[in-house]
Amino acid sequence: MAFFKSAPQNKFCPVCGTQLKAADGYCIKCGYSFQARQKSMRRGVKWRNVIIFLVLLAIVYFGLRYANDLTIIPRSLEDALNFKFD
Ligand SMILES: [Zn+2]
Repeated sequence: MAFFKSAPQNKFCPVCGTQLKAADGYCIKCGYSFQARQKSMRRGVKWRNVIIFLVLLAIVYFGLRYANDLTIIPRSLEDALNFKFD
């Protein structure tokens, strides 16, 4: 998954085109601020949504396992196929 780790070492000012370090918060030449753009990305909220999604996924997974124990639905796809062919 190199795609997700390919954080650029350098970035360019969208106003004057000066090459800046990725950690720079503003352009050293024209003073353009990157703060507003970073705020709109809201990475923390995005990660929180991923965690909530995984928790919900786990709840659904264990919920289905519990339903399997009660034999409400077929235990697995294999069992369902065996049931049909027997
Ligand atoms: Zn600039």
